[in-house]
Amino acid sequence: MTGPRRVVVVGADAVGMGAAHQALRTAAKRGESLAVTALEASSHTSYSACGIPYWMAGDVDSGDDLVARTAAEHRDAGIDLRLGTEVVAADLAARTVTTAAGDVLEYDDLVVATGAPAVVPDWARRPDGRTYDGVGVVKTLDDGAAWVSSFAEAGPGAHVVVVGAGYVGVEVAEAALERGFGVTVLTRTRGMAMLEDEMSDLVNTGLVDAGVELVLGAEVTGLEVDGDRVTGVRWDGGTREADLVVVAVGVKPATAFLENAGLDGSGLELTEDGALRPDPHGRVADHVWAAGDCCEVRRRIDDEWVFRPLGTHAAKHARALGDSLAGGDLSFDGMVDTSITRFSSSGVHLEIARTGLSRTDAEAAGLDPLALVTEGTTAAGYMPEAEPIAIWVMADRTTRRLLGVQVVGGRGAGKRIDTAAAVLWAGGSVDDLAWMDLSYAPPFATTWEVLQIAARRVADRL
Ligand SMILES: Cc1cc2nc3c(=O)[nH]c(=O)nc-3n(C[C@H](O)[C@H](O)[C@H](O)COP(=O)(O)OP(=O)(O)OC[C@H]3O[C@@H](n4cnc5c(N)ncnc54)[C@H](O)[C@@H]3O)c2cc1C
Repeated sequence: MTGPRRVVVVGADAVGMGAAHQALRTAAKRGESLAVTALEASSHTSYSACGIPYWMAGDVDSGDDLVARTAAEHRDAGIDLRLGTEVVAADLAARTVTTAAGDVLEYDDLVVATGAPAVVPDWARRPDGRTYDGVGVVKTLDDGAAWVSSFAEAGPGAHVVVVGAGYVGVEVAEAALERGFGVTVLTRTRGMAMLEDEMSDLVNTGLVDAGVELVLGAEVTGLEVDGDRVTGVRWDGGTREADLVVVAVGVKPATAFLENAGLDGSGLELTEDGALRPDPHGRVADHVWAAGDCCEVRRRIDDEWVFRPLGTHAAKHARALGDSLAGGDLSFDGMVDTSITRFSSSGVHLEIARTGLSRTDAEAAGLDPLALVTEGTTAAGYMPEAEPIAIWVMADRTTRRLLGVQVVGGRGAGKRIDTAAAVLWAGGSVDDLAWMDLSYAPPFATTWEVLQIAARRVADRL
């Protein structure tokens, strides 16, 4: 091979550019050079989608504040970044990708970093496939900009219906309340269904206390429209007038361009949902690498592949991928299913976090789980900082292994989950969590930290 190794990256956001920069750094350390070309369908690169709900709420002034690195910065680092360039096909045997404009690029290594676009159900679309005016998803910077301007245009008394009550739905409900709108949240299941019922109930109560009309078990069946504009939402149990409808019902891996790439015999496989399953170095087949939202991740506790499209996994896996591609050996050794969000508006402040398995996961893994909810405070009860907190802890009766922890509470509650995640990461027991050395002073915790009381209560009953 003459010239530097040609790396083609498809998708130039968190994973694509994270991996590209890491590959260049590792290659430089090894005295090698790479020719990196990054192809990005949209006109944006390297931004924090996670910050979009807070931009919609008015906590963040501008979309520019969410940009981590500009296109110019990538190019200055030597990356041939091509925006507005969608890849529509690949040929794994010939090692080429083809763009929508018909350009064919050869690669020595291909990085699939295409993420997972938001799902837009048929009921949200006009006959021509576009969404009705006033209806949209929250995924890209362009979506964020569209919502910020729709929020600004909507008059006082406008009503926003949010479909979906996962992380994005809850964060958007907060944003809409903060903008002074009436808010209805419709969910097919319950609020934050990734939580156990008793913890999800606390979130539901918080939403309602903040003034959200929350409809559980609602299956949306269609929209009321006036021409191209939405005027309401219909579900199996009712209707609600709406000026704006935010659809937050999940995402799906963007791997369609690989479907006819000659998968047979390539070693590359897509799951039924189109996800890839990379090894800890990000390798999915010879000369093909992937990480981030287009992939599933391996959960260490039960060794299951799960779809968890989160930036925290994406960033780590991208770094390992970039390093490994350039000859290093960094690896992303799975996760323990940790995540966090908050709902904060109208006098309600809830921090919501989870790590580990759900009870259903644990039972499916053949474990014998015992779980309890413990209530307490985030600081000594006599301190003004003290806020209520509820903690769900689950451990295995046979091995005493910690299996999962969930937290819902006021300020200071949420990041307690990281202590539990560290125990899970290390494969520790509920006794480790109950007895490990954690910090204490009245503004931060009770003498027996509430997380440790919760663990102790479970340990006592095993
Ligand atoms: C509203 C919101 C809030 C979030 N909050 C959090 C949070 O609090 N914590 C957390 O951990 N995670 C959060 N996430 C998730 C996090 O943003 C993602 O996990 C992360 O962006 C994934 O990075 P990625 O590079 O894999 O995918 P993406 O960021 O989606 O990037 C993929 C890129 O590939 C491009 N692309 C796709 N197909 C093609 C193609 N065929 N050709 C060329 N380009 C293509 C896309 O245009 C896109 O720019 C949030 C996401 C959203 C939307």
